[in-house]
Amino acid sequence: MSYHAGFHKQRPVAVASVLELRQLLLKYHQTKIGFVPTMGALHEGHLSLIARAKAECDLTVVSIFVNPTQFDRQDDLVHYPRNETQDLELLRGAGADIVFLPSEEEMYPTGDGTKIFAGRIAELFEGEHRGLEHFAGVATVVTKLLSIINPTVAYFGEKDAQQVAVVKRVVTDLLLPVQICTCPTVREENGLALSSRNTRLSAQEHLQAQALALSLQEGQQAFWDEGVTEASLLEQRGRQTMRSFGVEPEYFAAVDPVSFQPVITALPESLLIVAAHVGTVRLIDNVTLNNRTAFARSQQPGLVDTHLYPLAQ
Ligand code: AMP
Repeated sequence: MSYHAGFHKQRPVAVASVLELRQLLLKYHQTKIGFVPTMGALHEGHLSLIARAKAECDLTVVSIFVNPTQFDRQDDLVHYPRNETQDLELLRGAGADIVFLPSEEEMYPTGDGTKIFAGRIAELFEGEHRGLEHFAGVATVVTKLLSIINPTVAYFGEKDAQQVAVVKRVVTDLLLPVQICTCPTVREENGLALSSRNTRLSAQEHLQAQALALSLQEGQQAFWDEGVTEASLLEQRGRQTMRSFGVEPEYFAAVDPVSFQPVITALPESLLIVAAHVGTVRLIDNVTLNNRTAFARSQQPGLVDTHLYPLAQ
């Protein structure tokens, strides 16, 4: 049971103003606060982070903010799924204590002036394909949220592995007093990583989108079962699998999980990462080579909410 159970009758307490949230959190300055930043359109992936925060902390704060500064394409921002009513219901069910729902003006009162660039770690892959502003937007908004909420632990999903690497680097470099906890990727039965953007896939595209997870599995199998360690060969295998689904990857690579630089020879701790457009939807995924249970169904208790994510027939 959370620290302040019964204090607020209606949970989660919804707050839209930075000042109000800071004032509310003053009461909890000695409490272990778990924070889960999201862009809403919540699914089981987000809920797994919240469950972890609830299990480990005394107060769980979730933010929902579709951060405009991290979008490289206006149409992606415009079409980003939003469903506040359903999100609040899911948060109530998940037992979140506070939800922060700021407006753009609240988060960027003077526009987007000050920015945080994390350096080389943010330059390749997502940084290259979405532009340097993408991770600057992520790093800046996460730093702002951490400064407002001052959590003990902030929870992020492995699904966005480069984002995790960037956030960890920012926290280290700026000496921010927060622990970063990464949580495993929640997947559909067919391997597809849950993502808010999946709701924009047609039934046909939903099937094609399995290509990402299957290409990662193919890479894992080549590494473990055939002893392929050359990154370029793993890439070739991954790309072939993608193409067999009619999907052309933007990148498929083996990288160091901390520096996010490509490796020449893959090691068990290397990450395989992939990004591709399926129809108009851009998807990303990754797996650690030595995480051989990443795609096991048993890893995702209570995974599929068929109401939110009908599996393609
Ligand atoms: P988003 O709302 O997409 O910005 O995601 C908010 C947080 O949820 C990020 O830390 C994501 O990495 C995490 N997340 C998104 N999808 C998944 C998933 N399928 N499994 C676990 N975590 C996820």
